[in-house]
This record gives sequence, C-alpha cells and structure tokens, in this order.
Amino acid sequence: MKQNTKNKKFHLIIFGCQMNYSDAERLASVLKELGYQETKDENQADLIGIIACSVRQSAVDRIYGKLRNWQLIKEKRPLITLLSGCVLERDQKKLRDKFDLFIDIKNLQGLAENIKSLAPEQKMALPDFFDISPSYYSPYRAYVPIMTGCNKFCSYCAVPYTRGREVSRPSKSIIEEVSNLLKQGYKEIVLLGQNVNSYGKDRQKSGAKELDFPQLLEKVDSLAGHFWLKFLTSHPYDMNDKLIKAMSNCKNLSDYLHLPVQSGSNKILKKMNRHYTVAHYKKLIKKIRLALPDIAISTDIIVGFCSETDKDFQENLKLAKELKYNMAYLSQYSTRVGTVAARLYQDDVPKKNKKERWEKLNKIIEQQSFAFNQKLIGQKREVLIDMVKKDKHEYINIGKLSNYVAVHIRTKKPLKIGEFYPVKIKEAKFWGVQAELKAKDKIIVVLGPTAAGKSALAVKLAQEFKGEIISADSRQIYKGLDIASNKITKKEMAGIPHHLLDITTPDKEYNLYHWQQAAFATIEKILAKNKVPIIAGGTGLYISSIIQNYDLHPQEPQIRDCPYDFIIFGLSPDRAKLYQKINQRVEKMISDGSVAETKKIYRKFKNKKLPALTGIGYREIIEYLDNKISIAEAIDKIKQNTRHYAKRQMTWFRRMERQGIKIHWNQSWAQSKKIIKQFLAK
Ligand code: SF4
Repeated sequence: MKQNTKNKKFHLIIFGCQMNYSDAERLASVLKELGYQETKDENQADLIGIIACSVRQSAVDRIYGKLRNWQLIKEKRPLITLLSGCVLERDQKKLRDKFDLFIDIKNLQGLAENIKSLAPEQKMALPDFFDISPSYYSPYRAYVPIMTGCNKFCSYCAVPYTRGREVSRPSKSIIEEVSNLLKQGYKEIVLLGQNVNSYGKDRQKSGAKELDFPQLLEKVDSLAGHFWLKFLTSHPYDMNDKLIKAMSNCKNLSDYLHLPVQSGSNKILKKMNRHYTVAHYKKLIKKIRLALPDIAISTDIIVGFCSETDKDFQENLKLAKELKYNMAYLSQYSTRVGTVAARLYQDDVPKKNKKERWEKLNKIIEQQSFAFNQKLIGQKREVLIDMVKKDKHEYINIGKLSNYVAVHIRTKKPLKIGEFYPVKIKEAKFWGVQAELKAKDKIIVVLGPTAAGKSALAVKLAQEFKGEIISADSRQIYKGLDIASNKITKKEMAGIPHHLLDITTPDKEYNLYHWQQAAFATIEKILAKNKVPIIAGGTGLYISSIIQNYDLHPQEPQIRDCPYDFIIFGLSPDRAKLYQKINQRVEKMISDGSVAETKKIYRKFKNKKLPALTGIGYREIIEYLDNKISIAEAIDKIKQNTRHYAKRQMTWFRRMERQGIKIHWNQSWAQSKKIIKQFLAK
C-alpha cells in the first residue's frame, strides 16, 4: 500500500481500557513520524484507526456501526481504515477483510513494521514498540506501559489470547520515560500492565538482570518531582509482602489500590481459575490496611458466573460488606468466545438473576462508597483538576483526589486543568465530594546567626500570637548536648512548647531528611491545635528544607513550592556587637561546665568522632582533653570558629534572599507585630 502521507490526517478511536489508550499513544506517534497530522474530526481524516478491545461485545457492536459509515465515505473519497487492539481470533477473522490494515497487538514490533507499509518509500528507523516515544493525549496524566500480556488464563478472560504471554519492558526504558514526563511537569503517572505484580519475571527467567515490581515501584517513586504514582492492575496471587512493604516506603504512591477479587465464593474462584482463595484475599487486604491505613481499595466482581448459586452470590455480598470497598466495578457475566469458560462451562444463570444480583451488590457498594466519602469530610487534601465548567457566575472545577474520589469545587475564577490545588472537603455525595479551595496554612520563621537573640524573639512572638516553637538547630537535636550547644533552658522557654529539641542521641545517624519529615509532622500537629508554628534557628539548611520544600530523594535536593505561606524575620546585629555577644556566650559556656559535658558524652559513647562532637564548642574541648591545646587556646578557638560560623550563616541567608525569599531584617517589636497581624489576617 503506497501513498504520499504529506498533509494527510489521521483520527484514532479507542474502544477499550487504559492499555488500549496507551497503545494508541504510540501508534499516533508513529503516524506523525510518517507525516500524518492528528485530527479530532473523523470526517476530515484520511486514515481512521480503531484500537479496540473485542473482549467486550459492546466494542464489537460499535466497530460494526462505524464500518457502515466509513463504507459510505469510501464511495466518495479515499480513506484508509486500520484496526488494532485486543481483538479475539474469532473477531479478527470476521473483521480483518473489512479494514485496510490489521495490526496484531500480540506482535507489537510488527505494529511498527505494518505502519511503515503506509509509506514504504520513507526512510524511517522504528525502535521497539515500547521505545516509541508516545504522543501523549494528556499533558499532565500519563499511562506508562511496563508490560503487556498475561500468563494467568482466568477462565472467563481472553487477554492471554489477544495480547499473548507476559512481556516486560526493560526497567531502564520505563524509568527514562517517567523521568522525562516528570521533567515536563506531568502530575500523575500510572504504571500499566495486565498483571503488574509479576513485572520482570519473564526477563529474569531469560537471564536478564532485571528489577521486580516492588523494586521498580520504589525506583520510579524516588524520581524527582511532585507527582502521584499509581499502578494498574494487580493480581492477588502475585501481591506479596515485599510489594506491600515497598508501597508503604513510597512517598509519591497514591493512597489507592485496585485489587480485583472477582468472586467471594471459593467454588467460583476455582472455576474462574483465579489461583487464590477468599481467605488468602482477605488476609492480603488485612496486611495492606495494616501497612497503609488510609488506603482506598477498589475491586472487580463478576456476578452470575457459570453455576453461581444464590448461596455463592451471598458470599459475594458477605465479602463486599466485610472488606468495605470504597469502589467496585461490577459486571454481569456474559460468555466470550475463545475463552475456557465458553468451551467448558454453561452460562446457566438467567439474565434476570444476574441483573438482580448486580443491583443488590451495587447498592452495597454505593452505600460503602458514600460512607467512605463521609469520612473524608474536614480533611485537607490535594486535588488534580481535570475539567472546568461554567455555571452562571461561577465555575465548577472537577477533579480527583489521589484516591480517585471525584471532587467538585465552586470558584469565582476557573482553576487550571492539570494543576494540583489544596482543598478542604466539605460535603460527601454518592458520586464523590464537594470541596472548597483552602488557603495555605501560615508559619512564621525567625532566623539569624548564632547569638543574635532568635530564641528570645521567637518566645515573644509565640506569646503574642499563640504559637509553638520548632527549633531549627542541628546541634540542639541531641540529648545531653546542652551547654556548648546553647540549648534554651526551661526558664527561657517561659511555658511555650518547644519542639525538635533532644530528639536523638549523639551516637545516632540523623540526617536532613529525618529532620525535615519530623518538622513537617510537627507543623501539622501545631496547626491542628489552631496554633501558629514558629520555626526558629540558625541552621539555614534546615530552614530551607521547609520553606523551599526540598525534595531530598534525588541526589541533589530539588526546590519545590512551600506547602505553607510563610513570613521570615531575620536578626542581624552589627558585627562588633555580635562578636562581643559571641565572646560572652563562649565564656559563659565554659563557666557553666561545657568541659565536663563534653567529657561525659565522650565517656558514655567512647567515640570522639561522633558527628555530634564535631560541632563547634565540642571539638575544641576534645583537643584540649587530648592535651593538644591549652584551655585558653580552646576558648580562643571556639570564639574564632563561632565568628566564622556566624559569617557562613549570614552567607546562607543572603543566598536565600538572592533566590527571591523575602526576609524582614531587624524589625522593631511594634513593626514585627504589625507585619505579622497583616500576614495572619490575609
Ligand atoms: S489476570 Fe486474568 S482477568 Fe486479568 S488479564 Fe490475566 S487472564 Fe485476564
């Protein structure tokens, strides 16, 4: 088939699931490479392709409907028609001749070759199907195929015949695709496969050094960016403890899992060839909920499968009630030619009974879904906007929560499609929830070099504005390091709660990530008490990790939007005054007993190289204790090192300013109060 593809247009129609949608994105990309342009209007197209799932009768009926229409067009002008997707052999035989081009989805490499036949004169090197860079339909949600095919052979399903056996895509190529998507700002990544849980097994068996699914999930999750990660679909047989652990380790994975059960009766599960029992499935759900308590779980259930009695169906009801799914995709069984069930079993449950059973089960799922939505009321969540509709003088913004619950938000101005927004859930509905946009919570930051008087200012602010203080000081996190770290005393705290002091011992590893997570959790706890979180300290890295919301998983921390509205007060006394204060403070530390404190820690942990003891005020005393320097020299060294440290702190804060962060330096008390009042009232 030769033709000039220049200025030609194509239109693709998808009658199937996300997997077909993902196939279409790659097909579209190849067509564009061949010179075709995409059109949304079928009537303008020179080539129309259907990516269908003939496993569903409804899709087959729609294909025939379309064919009649295209025949009429063909009588008037040239038109190429193409069929691909999960097409049963029986349907293939019937449909093949009715299309100009049939592409067998089992032979994905062949897809590229077949497409090439549209323009054989064109020199074009096509990569492996999975490596074809897709033409994504959505600019913010991407379906990324990680494997295709299935080895499970459920008796009612034709997928192993239409798509073939499991073939995993190399993890390197998956990670590359997701990294590129995240760099382009994609917000939702869905890893796709018929049974993603068995990802990698085929490659491992053939000797390739490949990741398994839990490893792949953690790898993708650790990529830089703020995104939701999901995966579809799982098979209970391959869902294991390793995967549950990996899920609980992930920071971007959505609080949602689709785990098809198909039936609550062991007799039916056996007949369906599902390879697990109801007890096994229930145990799995228990483990998942233990590891991920807030997870929303949805399922698939087929009612009226061959020989399903009323008693079997009652077991479906019992299971659904017990496991409290928040969503379920229910279907009434119908025979599909080409499947084992079609050959071996009789479709013996009357249509009327199937319908009644479906309705009973659907009612329960609806009630459970509503109960689940009710539990969301009052929660602060993030929503990803999919659609905006105008309603008189308002806009209805429609989106989803990370657990797939639909959300409606009414606003005066339209929200941006494909963006995340913070919302507060106000009302539960059967279809989802109503929410309102939530202003960001507010935090106050007090920073400055050592000995500038930050603690005293923070306490005064906390008293005035009902606040609680979070210490941002990398030495004050250690128990027992009180004097030389200049930890605030009980008296100085003046009854104001102080957090993140004494949270670990000097021998423990405690990194920036640990502190950041603890600080975020503490901020939320303070906010829940309707109080104002005040971060006070001189460790610039700690402060930046919050206000610049560092993503610490990649090797180089990435700056992100701060989840809070913040205002920063900086203290920077003039140099002579600051140095005088530093000298006085060092002398006071020595007279208060910092030598004895250092000795005590050293004796306890028997290790002079503890990270906690490498800080200023300790390392010089250790030199003195090792008889390397005199006490007078140690004191001088501490003073000098503290002065250098104060300079470095100021360099960090100035750098923050250069990055566009506003710091209110050296404000009078009256001015500080005025600025904060305005900030809190915003
Ligand atoms: S797991 Fe069963 S239902 Fe799912 S694709 Fe494989 S054979 Fe079909």
